[in-house]
Amino acid sequence: MRIDLHTHTAASDGTDSPSELVAAAVAAGLDVVAVTDHDTTGGWAEALAARPDRLTIVPGAEFSCFHVEPDGRLISLHLLGYLFDPDHAELRAERARLRDSRLSRGRRIVENLAADGYAVTWERVSELARGGTVGRPHIGRALVEAGVVPDVDAAFTHLLSSRQKYYVRKDDMPVLDAVRLIRAAGGLPVFAHPFAHRRGPVVGDDVVAAMTEAGLVGLEVDHPDHDADDRAKVAALARELGLIGTGSSDYHGTNKVTRLGACTTRPEAYERLLALPSARRPVGS
Ligand code: AMP
Ligand code: FE
Ligand code: FE
Ligand code: ZN
Repeated sequence: MRIDLHTHTAASDGTDSPSELVAAAVAAGLDVVAVTDHDTTGGWAEALAARPDRLTIVPGAEFSCFHVEPDGRLISLHLLGYLFDPDHAELRAERARLRDSRLSRGRRIVENLAADGYAVTWERVSELARGGTVGRPHIGRALVEAGVVPDVDAAFTHLLSSRQKYYVRKDDMPVLDAVRLIRAAGGLPVFAHPFAHRRGPVVGDDVVAAMTEAGLVGLEVDHPDHDADDRAKVAALARELGLIGTGSSDYHGTNKVTRLGACTTRPEAYERLLALPSARRPVGS
């Protein structure tokens, strides 16, 4: 069984349409794929409609969150939510609020870049997003088109980095509230790429323990942004806290170099996840 529990489509910042993702999952030899677009369930229906018999789809989403350190610093982090009720009113409103916040923030990042002479326009960025959740990768694509950088990855090393002056925060969810809200909606929250320090500062084990008390069920152990040392540490923390250790590619189509199925979840871990009560079930065998 090949199981990839974290992927993006054009409903957020991936480049494959949901049906293209499904075809790519089959071509990559996956048996199970989770569709986890940023702050939206917008890709679910098309992915499910395109699903062939041999593929199981786990509907989910990736939520942008933050944690406040004792010294007041904000650390941003991502939560995967699987199998929640898409009609749960509060979580639904929260997704809409997060997507809205991404619009105004994306516009401001573009304004900051344009003010320094970079040839990007909000018009082009929102065209590239095609009505899906807007993210920095769309701005990256516009920068590539304008010939400013060779690829989206290069855009992230400088211009789009959270450490740069062009960066603007989104109005994310406090992470403990997010864990509780996903649970309240019948979902299973898993902390995405918890030790991906290349992206920015990461939270300590104490925060992961507090998230566990709030209802977290798993940690993403195998992820392209984790090196061998990170994976060993996350796996040990998962064991210590009784959390499920998952693995996934965080595939974004051509917006990122990582391939579908580049990291996968062990069948035992997947079984443990499915043994938990949730509002929905995976669709497929
Ligand atoms: P945003 O959600 O708008 O803050 O943008 C962050 C998103 O950009 C992450 O969820 C990743 O999907 C993506 N990302 C982060 N680093 C890179 C990179 N080096 N190349 C392409 N995409 C990236
Ligand atoms: Fe993304
Ligand atoms: Fe993420
Ligand atoms: Zn992701």
